[in-house]
Amino acid sequence: MQDILVLGAGYAGLKTVRSLQKQAGDFHITLVDRNNYHYEATELHEVASGSQPKDKISFPIKDVIDEKKVTFIQDDVLKVNPEASTAELKNSGTLHYDYVVVSLGFCSETFGISGAKENALQMVDINTADNIHQHILRMMEKYRETKDKNYLRLLICGAGFTGIELAGALVDERKRYAQVAGVTEDQIEIVCVEAATRILPMFDDEMAKYGVDLIEKLGVNLMLGSMIKEIKPGEVVYATSPDENAERQSIAAETIIWTTGVSGSPVMGESGFAERRGRVIINSDLRDPKYDNVYILGDVSALMDPETDRPFPTTAQIATRMGAHAAKNLLHQIKGEATEDFTYKSLGTVASVGNTHAFGLVGKSKIKGYPASVAKKGIMNKSLVEMGGLKELLAKGRFDLYH
Ligand code: NAD
Repeated sequence: MQDILVLGAGYAGLKTVRSLQKQAGDFHITLVDRNNYHYEATELHEVASGSQPKDKISFPIKDVIDEKKVTFIQDDVLKVNPEASTAELKNSGTLHYDYVVVSLGFCSETFGISGAKENALQMVDINTADNIHQHILRMMEKYRETKDKNYLRLLICGAGFTGIELAGALVDERKRYAQVAGVTEDQIEIVCVEAATRILPMFDDEMAKYGVDLIEKLGVNLMLGSMIKEIKPGEVVYATSPDENAERQSIAAETIIWTTGVSGSPVMGESGFAERRGRVIINSDLRDPKYDNVYILGDVSALMDPETDRPFPTTAQIATRMGAHAAKNLLHQIKGEATEDFTYKSLGTVASVGNTHAFGLVGKSKIKGYPASVAKKGIMNKSLVEMGGLKELLAKGRFDLYH
């Protein structure tokens, strides 16, 4: 009996397990995650804004695994020892494996910016996302008491996809926040501070301009060309010139949310893998270059795109595809067969801006407005089917398509 250990039940890990558990073979799977639920990380901004409750974007892992073939352990992974083929868990000791799938996901990247960890809110999992929503409501109540406008300012650091989707979700909820604060909707200020002067690098100029115009039209103050240098309590310090000696400016806000990018899990470094920012450059069959019984998937991996000679962007889409492919290669290995190379063509990229707006690419076609919003909900529903099957789709799917 071969022991397959899967570390992390995000898109890549859970997809590996769900693909493998359908297959016959002399193997047993052990799945480890610090949470007893899977969550749709692409929808965290909706929990942060309060547009959706936590349980709408998550479901219990036990509901979607076959317990005859899979043992689930809820624990923190501290370290993998690839030389000894073991993994160390915080509470459950050391596990031995014949094959391991390392899919431990992302954490927030602060780029060493002073005060970012201490003074900005992170949005990296269900609890931190929910914490943002609770924080916003508390700040609205504080405004009622103090009439200090800084409590009404919601400031997002970084206008990548995460920052933009969060800004859109906050716009949707502005009315509700205003009621708590006892002000009008337009008094809730949503600001996005971004270093780049041209955002949305994956889109051409026309599509990027559409995205910028859309979020500005919805009332978001998009401060482009503003490189954040420091986060003080209730204050973001930034520079509008790359000159290190240039004068710094600052903007006050009692809600500061950090979405300036992500890195892979720190476990990769702890384990001695050849990583950079928690990501390991993997072989085209998704294995570690040094250890042929170690698969590294999703946000902890860097897979080179032969067309651009740069790593593919880390997305839920590629992580899910990697999970399915790793399952196939594990079966090959167990049977003593050669592994297959992973090939990837993105199906597209769509950013939602609140519940009723979106824009992006599906294949090579540009989509905007209502059709884009419907396409985005289709993408979310497809992901739920992949991760949880029909049951989770029916319970958590997005069917509010007529708006
Ligand atoms: P990102 O790296 O894509 O964007 C971070 C943004 O923060 C960039 O625009 C960067 O210029 C800015 N930034 C960095 N340091 C800064 C500083 N000091 N001051 C001001 N601005 C600064 O990160 P992300 O948005 O978290 O996305 C991570 C990955 O997940 C990406 O590959 C993204 O495409 C993907 N993603 C996809 C979707 C989707 O498909 N709908 C949604 C969210 C994220």
